[in-house]
Amino acid sequence: MPELPEVETVKRTLNELIRGKTIAHVTVRLPRIIQKPDDIQQFETFLQGQTIESIERRGKFLRFVLTDYVMVSHLRMEGRYGLYDGDDELEPHTHVLFRFTDGSELRYKDVRQFGTMHLFPKGEELTSPPLVKLGIEPLDEAFTFKAFKAQIAHRATKIKPLLLNQAYIVGIGNIYVDESLFLAGIHPEREAKSLSKKELMGLHEAIVRTLQESVDVGGSSIKSYVNGQGEIGLFQHQLNIYGRGAQPCKTCGTEIVKTVVGGRGTHICLKCQPIKQGNSRKKSEK
Ligand SMILES: [Zn+2]
Repeated sequence: MPELPEVETVKRTLNELIRGKTIAHVTVRLPRIIQKPDDIQQFETFLQGQTIESIERRGKFLRFVLTDYVMVSHLRMEGRYGLYDGDDELEPHTHVLFRFTDGSELRYKDVRQFGTMHLFPKGEELTSPPLVKLGIEPLDEAFTFKAFKAQIAHRATKIKPLLLNQAYIVGIGNIYVDESLFLAGIHPEREAKSLSKKELMGLHEAIVRTLQESVDVGGSSIKSYVNGQGEIGLFQHQLNIYGRGAQPCKTCGTEIVKTVVGGRGTHICLKCQPIKQGNSRKKSEK
């Protein structure tokens, strides 16, 4: 599943590829992708003649800012955009086609069909679901230590599910939560309120560093996302702990444990991330 750095990279790539283009017509081949408006024909007609002013990101959502509308798009598990020539043969799993007046075509492919698109009159998207419920952006200047502490520090919830909750901080998914907690030396099952100020500071820094480094990696290899067919893909990130179950920790050599926390696959080095009790009175069962 794409996370914040990947979506940021898709956003930047789309800006390079389609900014300024005008939509001639839209074809929806799989209606369930379109969540708003209910009438698919309206979706297609509203977009006709709209020019792409820019593509922005909010959490893991893309915002296509058009002349009069904003299209909010979430890639979910497998969604991909690609820029094609309008005459190119359709590949399997192509669900939405945006034909531009210059003959090129933006195509949305999605094998799992979980992706979503919402179309709003400009401005309304920020005060309506799905964007209205979203928390603070971790790469914004507003994501200060003070803001982070205010969201997190007092809560009696395990730190990992808390960081995954998009209502507090947006865009950190399963991969980067594991990476950030490893970097900060914090066990994912620690209660948020048991973390010391020093640990919270380390975690804040780790989140920003992990995401920023991944965005930089994405940015430096933008050309490689656009392959022969014009598909805008994902990049390989350097991971320290995620996906490395049963392999030695890069820091201390201890075997990395793969377990489940809050229903999500979780990777931990029990030496670098000890389950200290802190101020928490509850005893962890495992
Ligand atoms: Zn370790």
